[in-house]
Amino acid sequence: MNAADSESLARRLLAAGYVEDSLERADVAILNTCVVRQASEDRVYSKLHELKEWKTAERTVAVTGCIVAKEGTELRRRFPQLDPVVVPIGEYEDFVAGLEARYDYSQGEALPPAGRTGVSHYVRVIQGCDHNCTFCIVPRVRGRERHIPMAAIVRECSEAVDAGAKEVVLLGQNVDDYRDPDGSGGLAALVSAVEEIPGLKRLRFMTSHPQDLEPELLEVMAASDVICRELQLPVQSGDDGILKRMARGYQTRHYRAIVERARSLMPDLGLVTDVIVGFPGESEAAFMNTRALLEEIEFDVVHLAMYSPRPGTVAADRMQDDVPGSEKLRRLNDLLALQRTIASRKTARWVGRDVQVLIEGHDELGRLYGRIRQGKRAIVLKGSGIVPGQLVDVRVMHATAGQLTGLPAA
Ligand code: SF4
Repeated sequence: MNAADSESLARRLLAAGYVEDSLERADVAILNTCVVRQASEDRVYSKLHELKEWKTAERTVAVTGCIVAKEGTELRRRFPQLDPVVVPIGEYEDFVAGLEARYDYSQGEALPPAGRTGVSHYVRVIQGCDHNCTFCIVPRVRGRERHIPMAAIVRECSEAVDAGAKEVVLLGQNVDDYRDPDGSGGLAALVSAVEEIPGLKRLRFMTSHPQDLEPELLEVMAASDVICRELQLPVQSGDDGILKRMARGYQTRHYRAIVERARSLMPDLGLVTDVIVGFPGESEAAFMNTRALLEEIEFDVVHLAMYSPRPGTVAADRMQDDVPGSEKLRRLNDLLALQRTIASRKTARWVGRDVQVLIEGHDELGRLYGRIRQGKRAIVLKGSGIVPGQLVDVRVMHATAGQLTGLPAA
């Protein structure tokens, strides 16, 4: 979501004639912030401290993203030397107008094509979230859900494809809750409309919610050559008691049923989840239920996090953070090791198979990289003549937990 917001603001600035440059040469520094965990928030403060040396009377520091809703004007009080411009998420017009009044770059570059990175274009379809998971700060900082009209989304995606994008990624904190405000269609209808765009090679969406996922969405995915075979479906815990305390709105049997149905329709589905360990009240038995769920489902990727209280959430304000830090770390490391083994075993199954890779660019070693339809990252060796944006058939030669490596298939 932050990447999409940065993209949106960057496009607006580029249209006004601004160009990206090094911090040393820049007149304006903008921080797009995340506060989902304390560590992310701490990074914002550390960056702001770093900027004190850079800031002069001629230069502007701006802060946008979730910290604006959480801390608001407090930022200006804490950093008077920076006098930061505080920009609410998505409300970029006044900010850009203010900059234009101060700096005139109207002779700069023209508006670049949608999706500056070229290959993938990110489109926000829902802003905010109507759930109230007890650990989560997002509803407080991003507000209640606002849904973008389906026609506008399809138009934006079409323009991106016309400008050279090969893939679009539909984004929402809970993308499954999508409802066209001008009609009645949900996410299944939206992806069905977007996948019809001529020239579009791939369509992804994230993040799903087990409580809201429409059964027909899985049917639409299974029938499509464009929609990727990947589901980002956070489970958060494998224990029903903890799920209830988290107010997630589903039980593990419901989650299992979705996975079973999805895999029966798409046996090669890439399944990504999020798990929090050490949530208030998580006993050893509850933790072992999560461990057992990971062993049973065999996710492709698990984003693991130790619970950290976020002030303003129900869990922080009304529950006791009763799992000691050392125990949270032990549980985290235990699941990390388990998941590494599972992911290595699963990716090894790709070796010797042909996969289709959408080339995204070159890595730091100069090798081509991209993703397969199931979301796994792939390195393509000996791919002279292949360029970003190309779909390439690749024979997988080697696999690690995190990525595949292969050669262009003959
Ligand atoms: Fe946060 Fe996701 Fe729950 Fe919404 S659904 S409150 S974004 S965890």
